[in-house]
Amino acid sequence: MEILRSVCPRCGKPSAGLCNECRAAEVEWLKCEPRVESIYCPVCGSQRHGKTWTDTLVDHETLVHEIAYSALTLHPDLRGAEIAMTFKDPSPNRTFVDLTVTGTLYGVEVTGSCQVKIVWIKEQCDRCNRISGGYYEGIIQVRAVDRRPSDREMDQAARIAEETEDGLQEAGERLSFVSSIEEMKDGLDIVVGSQHIGHIVASTLCSTLGGKLSTHPKLVGEKDGKRLYRVTYLVRLPRFQIGDVVVVRGGYVEVRGTGHGRLQVYDLGDASAHFVSEDEVERFVGNVGDAQNALVTYHDGDVIGILDPKTQGPVECRAVPWLEVEDGGTIRVLRDDETERFVLVG
Ligand SMILES: [Zn+2]
Ligand SMILES: [Zn+2]
Repeated sequence: MEILRSVCPRCGKPSAGLCNECRAAEVEWLKCEPRVESIYCPVCGSQRHGKTWTDTLVDHETLVHEIAYSALTLHPDLRGAEIAMTFKDPSPNRTFVDLTVTGTLYGVEVTGSCQVKIVWIKEQCDRCNRISGGYYEGIIQVRAVDRRPSDREMDQAARIAEETEDGLQEAGERLSFVSSIEEMKDGLDIVVGSQHIGHIVASTLCSTLGGKLSTHPKLVGEKDGKRLYRVTYLVRLPRFQIGDVVVVRGGYVEVRGTGHGRLQVYDLGDASAHFVSEDEVERFVGNVGDAQNALVTYHDGDVIGILDPKTQGPVECRAVPWLEVEDGGTIRVLRDDETERFVLVG
């Protein structure tokens, strides 16, 4: 009796019960789903898992490997598994993956292989469906008081919208997209896919460009039993921008701060800083952001000779005490189109 119990009942080798080789041979340690479907959006490449769409952030090869790997089931007792994959794409909607798995099962080295067929199915994703259907939830209107927003402000607004979209898309907010950015007669219209992105872009614009925000929701219908609103975010930029050079009481000042109808200004004549009311502004000259470099040809007392940046012709300007100039150096000037003189700004 003692002898009978010490051999493998399957192969007769000496063993206490079933030997490791026979145990390993008996276990179905490698299982593969022979066919898996993968649903993707032909426009943006997003993948659908159940009801959820996600952006595909990996290349085709990595994606194939991931899908094939998920079709594979390995026995929990397998140790040190190594998986090798090769694949071919015989047609745009079929991929065949050959998998070879090696590992150790009950101390016995095992090797197995299987094939997975990936069937690619095209379906328009939630985001592309909304974009192509013209769906939107908000419009950010960038406007300014008594003027059109400058090109610089509109460029900055467009950049803020795009950066916000990138950030939200990367965070997985697929429906927070920007569907269009359009220049209008009186400013910029930014059309967005969700109220969340609309709110973020509008508030960022206000804090960056110094505007006031008002929101105007409008009920446009119902979708899946929920009321659907479209929101107009009106961003009203102030009449004057930081860096504007304006004429106050016959002198040039640069706007350094705005708010509540008052301007904090820097006097480009005597370098004094003070506040003026917006109503005291006689006219607008330009913005220091548009100033040009001019070459200084000579400096004599309170007269500076420069070359007109446009024509390179010699021009004389009155020196200002706050600006140090050197012969052969450059200074920043803004042309006052009304007087055809140059304003020294830096
Ligand atoms: Zn055996
Ligand atoms: Zn898509």
